[in-house]
Amino acid sequence: MQKIAQVLKQLGIKKDCESVCTGLNWINAVGGRHREIISPVDAKKLGVVHFATMSEYEAVLKRAVDAKNIWQNIPAPKRGEIVRQYGNVLRENKEALGALVSYEMGKSYQEGLGEVQEMIDICDYAVGLSRQLHGLTMHSERPGHRMYEQYHPLGVVGVISSFNFPVAVWAWNAMIAAVCGNVSIWKPSEKTPFSAYACMNLMKKVIEINHLPEGIFTVINGDKEMGMMLAEDKRVELISATGSTPMGRAVGKIVAERFGKSILELGGNNAIIVTEHADLDMAIRAIVFGAVGTAGQRCTTTRRLIVQESIYDTLLKKIIKIYKQLKVGNPLDVNNHVGPLIDQNAVNLFETAIERLKKEGGNVLVGGKVLKGAGYEGGCYVYPAVCEARNTYKIVQEETFAPILYVMKYKKFSEAIAMQNDVKQGLSSSIFSNNIRETELFLSAQGSDCGIANVNIGTSGAEIGGAFGGEKETGGGRESGSDSWKAYMRRQTNTINYSNQMPLAQGIKFDV
Ligand code: NAD
Repeated sequence: MQKIAQVLKQLGIKKDCESVCTGLNWINAVGGRHREIISPVDAKKLGVVHFATMSEYEAVLKRAVDAKNIWQNIPAPKRGEIVRQYGNVLRENKEALGALVSYEMGKSYQEGLGEVQEMIDICDYAVGLSRQLHGLTMHSERPGHRMYEQYHPLGVVGVISSFNFPVAVWAWNAMIAAVCGNVSIWKPSEKTPFSAYACMNLMKKVIEINHLPEGIFTVINGDKEMGMMLAEDKRVELISATGSTPMGRAVGKIVAERFGKSILELGGNNAIIVTEHADLDMAIRAIVFGAVGTAGQRCTTTRRLIVQESIYDTLLKKIIKIYKQLKVGNPLDVNNHVGPLIDQNAVNLFETAIERLKKEGGNVLVGGKVLKGAGYEGGCYVYPAVCEARNTYKIVQEETFAPILYVMKYKKFSEAIAMQNDVKQGLSSSIFSNNIRETELFLSAQGSDCGIANVNIGTSGAEIGGAFGGEKETGGGRESGSDSWKAYMRRQTNTINYSNQMPLAQGIKFDV
């Protein structure tokens, strides 16, 4: 793997980035608010980024609005060709971008590569989609009439993204939005801006080679205030916001107030049910991967484990044994299983959650400690925890964005489903069982109430071909595959009268 200095060079990023990116151009920022980006891996400064000022925001919006008519008029398969080229640029830079994501965010290098692979996959998907933006035709009830529906681009799409998927979330949105004929403005997480800038530098190459306007893909740096400005801006027809439920509640309200459209992809509180009919070895692999992967910082992280009482002790013993073997440390070292949390605040939230759990009567079975000293290089490392808990505990009802797995028992299968559903969030869920009655009940309307319900697969690691998103306080949005593209377009129903009659509805008649 390349050294970080080489990675930054390859991706066109200055170590101390005293500039702000408006559109695809970098300008020297003067004054204004800024943020130091410290790597959670080794507490070293990655650089300084400036938040865009009001006039820079206006410049970005103007570029996007100017570009939208040009982009809309390019045929969809030709728009797909631009996305195809970007996919290839990503392929050429996969290792470098994966390493930057890992170093800036803290996920393992393998997961960083996986995230870039997801971007490549969504580019491929979007290329195919660019030839399949189908509407329906319907039979008209009137003679000599034809009816059909077609999909038009929305215009400008705003993408607000979270720190834990610094690059893939943007690609899921921006690539699909692009083939649908939209330009997009990206407000990345203020915690991971360098990964975003790297994506834009790579995009710049494609845009320049094809002599396209730079406003088709833009990035604007800032924190929550910048996100709110985008949400309020009537020139932005759709806001796709990924992040915490409080963020979604605020953004959803602002966008609805102006009758804009929104896709909300918010927090999860995902559970795996393990029944007495499960293949335990399969279940254990999925549970540990789901609970500790990305150090518990995935929206689909397994946070609750609901286990039938007859296998509870056996399963827990095996899980604890594996947890004791976990290697926590620098995520760029492939020998480590678990990297750091994003920042000190996340470490504090982890510690507070463990304390709250104990106060409510819960019990830490393994892990749950903050790791400091030799080998941790001042980074934000914690040892993943497995805790006995009840579903009704307040802390269990919340999403703590850290590797804490709450384990609980059930007697009857109906209890397990009730527990799984008895949280405010509704993102991902899964069951391990080889009993078809149980698995089908879990998937039925009386079963899991989540947007994602899996059988004999864990809660994390969704494939891009399906629609991704969740119910209840997860926000109801859908992204990625299936027909999610429709959210990036406006539907128009067209009726054409090719007869020489003008039949009026409800049989109304008047003389002309
Ligand atoms: P966050 O809510 O703190 O920030 C997410 C983004 O929203 C950032 O860009 C931030 O600047 C912006 N933001 C925050 N408050 C805002 C406001 N009031 N108005 C406008 N913009 C605002 O989330 P985070 O800590 O970066 O990410 C972790 C959260 O994201 C978790 O809750 C996780 O479950 C969720 N998440 C959900 C999905 C999903 O698809 N459902 C995917 C990834 C992450």
